[in-house]
Amino acid sequence: MRNIDHVIVGHDGGAGARTGDVFDPNTGQVQARVQLGTQADLDKAVAAALAAQPGWAATNPQRRARVMFAFKALVEKNMEELAHLLSSEHGKVIADAKGDIQRGLEVIEFACGIPHVLKGEYTQGAGPGIDVYSMRQPLGIGAGITPFNFPAMIPMWMFGVAIACGNAFILKPSERDPSVPVRLAELMREAGAPEGVLQVVHGDKEMVDAILDHPAIAAVSFVGSSDIAHYVYRRGVEAGKRVQAMGGAKNHGIVMPDADLDQVVADLSGAAFGSAGERCMALPVVVPVGDKTADALRAKLIPAIEALRVGISTDAEAHYGPVVNAAHKQRVENWIQTGVDEGAELVVDGRGFQLQGHEQGFFIGPSLFDRVTPDMQAYKEEIFGPVLQIVRAPDFETALKLPSDHQYGNGVAIFTRNGHAAREFAARVNVGMVGINVPIPVPVAYHTFGGWKRSAFGDTNQHGMEGVKFWTKVKTITQRWPDGGASGDSAFVIPTMG
Ligand code: NAD
Repeated sequence: MRNIDHVIVGHDGGAGARTGDVFDPNTGQVQARVQLGTQADLDKAVAAALAAQPGWAATNPQRRARVMFAFKALVEKNMEELAHLLSSEHGKVIADAKGDIQRGLEVIEFACGIPHVLKGEYTQGAGPGIDVYSMRQPLGIGAGITPFNFPAMIPMWMFGVAIACGNAFILKPSERDPSVPVRLAELMREAGAPEGVLQVVHGDKEMVDAILDHPAIAAVSFVGSSDIAHYVYRRGVEAGKRVQAMGGAKNHGIVMPDADLDQVVADLSGAAFGSAGERCMALPVVVPVGDKTADALRAKLIPAIEALRVGISTDAEAHYGPVVNAAHKQRVENWIQTGVDEGAELVVDGRGFQLQGHEQGFFIGPSLFDRVTPDMQAYKEEIFGPVLQIVRAPDFETALKLPSDHQYGNGVAIFTRNGHAAREFAARVNVGMVGINVPIPVPVAYHTFGGWKRSAFGDTNQHGMEGVKFWTKVKTITQRWPDGGASGDSAFVIPTMG
């Protein structure tokens, strides 16, 4: 059985007391065991990070950027291997696994420009003989705790920016698909990052708590489900750390009566069912405005959903593969039953789907609900599976209110040909990321990623300039170089420059 070990400087490779099973979701079999680390493992990683970080921070930003350039080239060179590894543990199809890696690499591309973005501000002559300037300095050691659904992109969101800014970084990836994060750390080393600059510690709650409480870790970035995000935020802040914690989602797609329904159906199929719905920017709720729109959309959605091909993750023809493990499959199927019990109309039922030759795999067929209402638990909670819910809205204002009032506020999309409606929607909706005729509105790397309400705790987003802000602290210097002729006067009031 393959053993997935930590990447900790000086780690002897000895097996720890606890391990976790890593499945092949296509077959349902355990394919590897991952070490579940302890406080002692983290202490070792922190010691190595403390040793490495000052030298790394003192390395000029252009040289740090060169490591990022080399890392990007290495990831590109190893794309096929990484995508297959990712797909074999997560279950997403190969093309989508490549997308996962590519979207992370785009943050590395941003990090290649770090010398430019780290330049501070300068005011000459802010007062008589006084100049004021600022510099952004790294925090020291940062940690990232990441979810299973983007095992390449989300670690790169975090460590790309944190490391380029001069921090050492300790990554605690999801224990469900930990192999790609290990390979990324190996490739960073090959790219020239000094040892100790990027380390990987595996584990579950025990390791997360050790990270949150460790006094030498200055900042924690978390992405995962909302209850745990909130917990991580509270505990990390209590320990005096800077924390950003992104949570769950339930993104709505509003379909106006003037939308191009064929395009909407094509967009929704990918956005609701791609990656088996295991995306925080999936669109699992569609809100057609008016019954005529709803009926026409439903009529087009049914054949499109029935035509979806569910297959093993290496099947190049498959639209999506299995979900990540048996517990998650059960959870999704339970939510489908809850929707039925609450009175929603199950139009297409994906439960009980079996793939011939892969009967033990964690496959779920696509499901479609109609007449879902906002009071239902199955609407309020995140399902994170291949399930699309139609919530009918009589008019634009009701459609706008649905995502605005929902507990989650990660992403939302509107499909319309009416620029005024789109503009109004973007301005008024109470959600952090908006798509206008764009089904999965994940912002590009040099913008920034983050939801509102229970989709994110903390006030700084991932990547882009927000990421640079999160991973650095600003120092402001007020300087005067007297000419030697001391004035001798003491000032007992706050100095003003006027
Ligand atoms: P998860 O919350 O189960 O796990 C995330 C991380 O927390 C993992 O590293 C895990 O080891 C750790 N963890 C699990 N249980 C813990 C506990 N009790 N105490 C402390 N740490 C714990 O999430 P997941 O199932 O891996 O990922 C899916 C979730 O992530 C979904 O809710 C999805 O919406 C969300 N997500 C959000 C974003 C975003 O940017 N908002 C992006 C991707 C995924």
